Amino acid sequence: MPDTAHRFICDSMLGRLAKNLRMLGFDTLYARLLSPQALAQIALEQQRIILTRRTVFSKSTAADSVVYIRSNDPKEQLREVITACSISRAFIRPFTICLRCNVPLADLAKKAAAGRVPDYVLSTVDHFAACPSCGRVYWKGTHYANMADRILAIME
Ligand SMILES: [Zn+2]
Repeated sequence: MPDTAHRFICDSMLGRLAKNLRMLGFDTLYARLLSPQALAQIALEQQRIILTRRTVFSKSTAADSVVYIRSNDPKEQLREVITACSISRAFIRPFTICLRCNVPLADLAKKAAAGRVPDYVLSTVDHFAACPSCGRVYWKGTHYANMADRILAIME
């Protein structure tokens, strides 16, 4: 089993997929303004898998580094990536990457979370994480449970 998880770069049509992959803990760039050539260059330099809905990549890029996403449905798109890249559960680490910034989250002490999350959250949750870039605080609340259910459904 490889000791590093897959890294991705999504084209401009796959912003939602990029966010969902970050939610699962995958380092994922969202290349909204890049040409296909520039995107392919970054993918090559950073060893990222290109996720795309465009067919232009079939001519310009090594086939094994591109996954063509067929579905319009975000959940189905995620399933396509998981299947195409043979991603196992061991590599899914929810809430380890900021959904906005794509940077790893840092642990945040409960004391330090006070004032940064709603009081009811502070009284029921023990583990927090924060983004060192934007400061957003994450915790495993209801949203996390819902997401975990969704992931398990996709992996089955
Ligand atoms: Zn952030």
